[in-house]
Amino acid sequence: MYDLVIIGAGSAGLTSAIYASRAGLNFTVLEQDGFGGGQITSAFEVENYPGFHDISGADLAERFKEQAVKLGAKIELSIVESIEKCDDKFIVHTHFGDIIKSKSVIVATGAVPRKLNIQGEKEFTGRGISYCALCDGAFFADRDVIVAGGGDTAVEDAMYLASICKSLTLMLRGTAFRAAKSRVDKLLALPNVSVLYGTNIIKINGDKIVNSVLIKDKNGERSFDTNAVFIAVGTAPATDCLLNLPIEVENGYVVANEDCKTNVGGLFVAGDIRKKPLRQVVTAVADGANALYSAIEYLKDF
Ligand code: NAP
Repeated sequence: MYDLVIIGAGSAGLTSAIYASRAGLNFTVLEQDGFGGGQITSAFEVENYPGFHDISGADLAERFKEQAVKLGAKIELSIVESIEKCDDKFIVHTHFGDIIKSKSVIVATGAVPRKLNIQGEKEFTGRGISYCALCDGAFFADRDVIVAGGGDTAVEDAMYLASICKSLTLMLRGTAFRAAKSRVDKLLALPNVSVLYGTNIIKINGDKIVNSVLIKDKNGERSFDTNAVFIAVGTAPATDCLLNLPIEVENGYVVANEDCKTNVGGLFVAGDIRKKPLRQVVTAVADGANALYSAIEYLKDF
């Protein structure tokens, strides 16, 4: 039986792993994606993580992973389906039928992209609709593309896409960006970028691939030609593996203070899955350290 199982090898989970190795715990990290690294791997550029100016998200994640592995962390490819608590022990069930026992668990599964839930979105996903600019942008080099959303993710996706596409149109449903002003100013200074405020995409149209969207603004509805739509309208916490536990959530996020303790003793949450006001790499790594500190305190009394 492990002292600790860490679920998720993103910024938060890898930080917990770095601290767990240094604390000499018997632990493992379970990650469902072959590469790992979490959401930050799809960021074109990260400029607000102290000590690393202008590093790509993938490179930053790779450094986190290298550091964790160098210190002795074992990262296993595994999809966690559910977690049970029996007496004082946790039983982690994986998609491959494995059963992993542990005294404590840190869940750092992050968040997944939200959908627009409009007609044509599902049908054209992978055929002009994408939730990852860095993964799919190259397919639309020298073409006209749209980014939906006005948060940091949308602006970062747009920065990258503007560097390879012919034209980039950002569509915001509201009248203001949520993203950091410095990044928005940099984006809007680019010659092939334009913004449509107060604009909702209500339908995706195409034949085999996307060729236009139906948009609605204060003047009514109209068609807008495009080759692709990159959807960046926020994220939803990845809590599926917690459904069998009586865990307290609010608006989908797991309730836990800065100590990352949930209402289930011995189970901690770190990163974007936790209810908190600011979701950034720097707050995810802070959670990773705090969750591990709380796990050590818990294990002392086990
Ligand atoms: P976000 O900050 O929640 O922004 C979501 C954007 O999508 C907003 O512009 C929102 O519009 C729009 N939106 C939401 N639902 C919509 C819908 N149904 N139709 C059209 N537009 C919709 O999400 P995010 O950009 O993914 O960022 C998530 C968190 O990660 C944030 O805390 C962000 O700061 C952080 N992050 C940080 C960095 C960085 O620091 N380098 C990079 C990426 C993300 P309204 O404003 O009208 O609601």
